Amino acid sequence: MRAIRVSQYGGPAVLKLEEVPTPSPGPSQVLVRNHAIGINPVDTYLRSNTDNRGPKLPYTPGSDAAGVIEAVGTAVAGVKPGDRVYFGGSLTGSYAELSLCEQGQIHPLPGNASFAQGAAVNVPYATAYHALFNRAHGRAGQSVLVHGASGGVGIAAVQLARAAGMTVIGTAGTDRGRRIVAEQGAHHVLDHTAPGYPDDLLKLTGNRGVDVVMEMLANVNLQKDLNVIAMSGIIVVIGNRGNTEINARSAMNKDAAILGMALFHASPQQLAGIHAALVEGLRNGTLRPVIGEELPLAQAARSHEVVMEPGHHGKVVLVP
Ligand code: NAP
Repeated sequence: MRAIRVSQYGGPAVLKLEEVPTPSPGPSQVLVRNHAIGINPVDTYLRSNTDNRGPKLPYTPGSDAAGVIEAVGTAVAGVKPGDRVYFGGSLTGSYAELSLCEQGQIHPLPGNASFAQGAAVNVPYATAYHALFNRAHGRAGQSVLVHGASGGVGIAAVQLARAAGMTVIGTAGTDRGRRIVAEQGAHHVLDHTAPGYPDDLLKLTGNRGVDVVMEMLANVNLQKDLNVIAMSGIIVVIGNRGNTEINARSAMNKDAAILGMALFHASPQQLAGIHAALVEGLRNGTLRPVIGEELPLAQAARSHEVVMEPGHHGKVVLVP
């Protein structure tokens, strides 16, 4: 089969399309023929070995894809070749024509969701769900600022919060991004590049502030979040790309909590709950991943450039 291989850490050019042996499933494993592969910013951090978290070389990148089961191991029950699935994590990487998964890593892909949408589920939607419900304990009637709502995680957070009965304020940096955020269910949409937008946000809440912030770029926004958080509000740091300085007094003044989160730390029980909710959300149509760009598998390097470009919208997927 063909797969993308990384033999040295570096820029997008280290992603090479190669011929590799097709894996075969062990007793508890499932082989998936990928029809679409989700590209996440974390794939670029691992490729360049940011924070020394790069996988052992050589490796096939990627955690997310959707496709059809090709073969199952002898001890696998409940799924069969031909079933449509998406997966979150695999044993062999997702940037490939086929991926080997443990059965617990695959989830049913409802018939109303495309393969590209299935590839857009795992990291973005599981992250948004874990941040919003398991970390911030968001609930109906609360207000939430999705600070960076036009990307993969942001769109997921908007849809999840709206379906849960929260008042949703989303931000984006371009007209097209703001249009998408409004279409995906945000009650109010602001421009995070406009001077004074936090004041507009406060006005939208009658100067009370927001109960929850889902923060995609904390190094730029953490102090602004503290300025607009409501009393006892919760800021969840989902994305961060540098250092920042805050006045911690703003947190004291509001009894505010700043919570870090990494999907990586979700427990097996939490992941089971998250995916049960996501599969049902796909099935009932409240969760509708938005695809920004589809590229052939051979253009994996380009996909890593696109996913890091400011102003790209929705999800970048590769098609084998
Ligand atoms: P993405 O699709 O590239 O989206 C990036 C988002 O950030 C866009 O909505 C973009 O908006 C927005 N943004 C740009 N400048 C901003 C600003 N000044 N203020 C607020 N938002 C701004 O990426 P993603 O997949 O949604 O991931 C978002 C971040 O979360 C990334 O840093 C990623 O690494 C991180 N992440 C963390 C976890 C975790 O477990 N903690 C999991 C998944 C992702 P415009 O382009 O419209 O300006």
